[in-house]
Amino acid sequence: MSTRPDIRTEDLTKMYTDGSTCKEIATKFNLSYGGVYGRLQQSGIKMRTHKNKVIRKKRPSRPDVKNEDLISMYATGLSCREIGNAINMSGGAVHTRLRQSGIKTRSVGDKRGENSANWHGGIHITTHGYLKIYYPDHPRAVSNYVFEHVLVWEETNKKPLPDGWIVHHMNGIKNDNRPENLTAMVRKDHSKLHLGILYIHRIQELEAEVAHLTNLLAEKGTPA
Ligand SMILES: [Zn+2]
Repeated sequence: MSTRPDIRTEDLTKMYTDGSTCKEIATKFNLSYGGVYGRLQQSGIKMRTHKNKVIRKKRPSRPDVKNEDLISMYATGLSCREIGNAINMSGGAVHTRLRQSGIKTRSVGDKRGENSANWHGGIHITTHGYLKIYYPDHPRAVSNYVFEHVLVWEETNKKPLPDGWIVHHMNGIKNDNRPENLTAMVRKDHSKLHLGILYIHRIQELEAEVAHLTNLLAEKGTPA
């Protein structure tokens, strides 16, 4: 990588003051980390110390985003922070909203089993609405339970679900584990797919709102 005199220092400082890190800027402009750091320092702007190196802008609370959308995003395996980044909310606010809607946010060690008071014949419905089956020997077992959709996919495809892959419910119904409703993909693609679905819902809502307002205008006429 070169020093790239064609890149304007003000573009670098703008990104930096907007909250990007030197590393992020370096990646974006294909510069070295040191190159970016040096140019920023020479520009005379105030460099962030490591203690407060990520200055995040205060993010809106997004009352327009529905809790159920947050819940279904979270169920795809995205973290609160990843969801927040995608829809411009803080990870903390996403976490709070999930808790307020009664979602147990993920933590390790959800102990259940045949001897537990919660034993329901080896089937367990998660807070997200997925079915889990008691299968302690399965490599993907968490506290002895495995997602039924994983088991069905593995059985249908006669191979273990590859590492980092997620089984997706095509019709969106989380307990519809018919083989034809299941498809598997890498986590990243799965998250993207759900982000796409989220945006489509939002667009549909906005289109309905625009249609409603257009009707109102047609009925009442434009104000004089
Ligand atoms: Zn999915």
